[in-house]
Amino acid sequence: MSADTNLMPIPGAVDPVPVARAAVPRADGLVELVGLPREKIRAEFEAAGLEPKQAKLRAKQVWHWIYNRGVTDFSAMSDIAKGQRPWFAERFAISRPEVVEAQVSSDGTRKWLLKTHDGHDFEMVFIPDADRGTLCVSSQVGCTLNCRFCHTGTMQLVRNLEPAEIVGQVMLARDALGEWPSQPEGRMLTNIVMMGMGEPLYNFDNVRDALKIVMDGDGLGLSRRRITLSTSGVVPMMARAGEEIGVNLAVSLHAVTKEIRDEIVPLNRKYGIEQLLEACAAYPGANNARRITFEYVMLKDKNDTDEHARELVRLIRRYRLPAKVNLIPFNPWPGASYECSDPDRIRAFSNIVFEAGISAPVRTPRGRDIDAACGQLKTAAERKRRAKVPSAA
Ligand code: SAH
Ligand code: SF4
Repeated sequence: MSADTNLMPIPGAVDPVPVARAAVPRADGLVELVGLPREKIRAEFEAAGLEPKQAKLRAKQVWHWIYNRGVTDFSAMSDIAKGQRPWFAERFAISRPEVVEAQVSSDGTRKWLLKTHDGHDFEMVFIPDADRGTLCVSSQVGCTLNCRFCHTGTMQLVRNLEPAEIVGQVMLARDALGEWPSQPEGRMLTNIVMMGMGEPLYNFDNVRDALKIVMDGDGLGLSRRRITLSTSGVVPMMARAGEEIGVNLAVSLHAVTKEIRDEIVPLNRKYGIEQLLEACAAYPGANNARRITFEYVMLKDKNDTDEHARELVRLIRRYRLPAKVNLIPFNPWPGASYECSDPDRIRAFSNIVFEAGISAPVRTPRGRDIDAACGQLKTAAERKRRAKVPSAA
């Protein structure tokens, strides 16, 4: 599927940003059905030779098998005539990303190393809690944006993930958790955050198409209130994200001055803090019941003073933002040039924001022992490649 949104070049010190590659077609020539809108499945069946009425009926049945039952094999589709099932299998595929490795942290967090059909590695993480289970989904292999504190930003190859590969992560998690057929109650997988590898708003069309299926009541049936999209601040795409996807918004703010944000989130040189906060104020659907989350990574002696906390409060008030702040202790990775703020400093920062009436919880790092925490995702193959190249610093 081709994207209808071009990537924007970012002038300044980070220009040119490498443009993410598109996926190549499957080597076996089969048409992947996962990730296609219902209507498109019908059109594919018709194009392959089914009568219009047949195509419509079969599309409805196959959709149900894919998203309600989690079936990947046409031979299991008992309401399709036995003789017709091989006809489908010769032309179409219902796939999952390939699992290369699955790891479990001492705190129960799970991480999967996955592979695309054309051989690129990416990762997904499941974080179980007492009352919910959150799947952290990737939108790209790597990321073009190079935030200074993020391991994913150091990956060299960046390819956009296809809708099949984005929805496929959620389906794979359901496979692993034994959550087929889809049921509205008692699920372990209750929430989705687009906070894995990649910048979701630089792969807008595919993320939108995938999340539409995840939210479809006859699809994976997760409410948009339980889905959060995190962006480092791709301002021109934020209004469209609100209108066309309509999920909760998280914004990776991380700094309150131009100087510091320019350094740690280089995209700030293109879209500054004021522009970003204006886009937040205009985000469709943001209100007191549905607040925007501002993510703030705590970096020692960089962005963590009392004055920074007070400025954060001033900014949120100036733009009248229905906001909550998520303080993320920095998760280290080999070669990172930052350290995490001391716990006392994080607490003091949190108190200042909290006393201004803004919720400011400190996020407990999860899965650090298997490199599954925020900003630690980088595939093993890439880690090895990096280790061989002498560092420029
Ligand atoms: N690209 C998107 C979403 C993925 S990152 C974005 O940047 O928002 C999810 C969150 O983890 C972001 O807030 C990101 O800034 C944060 N993060 C990245 N590296 C981190 C690290 N080493 N420690 C803690 N948080 C990190
Ligand atoms: Fe990309 Fe987000 Fe990491 Fe920045 S923090 S490099 S935008 S994944």
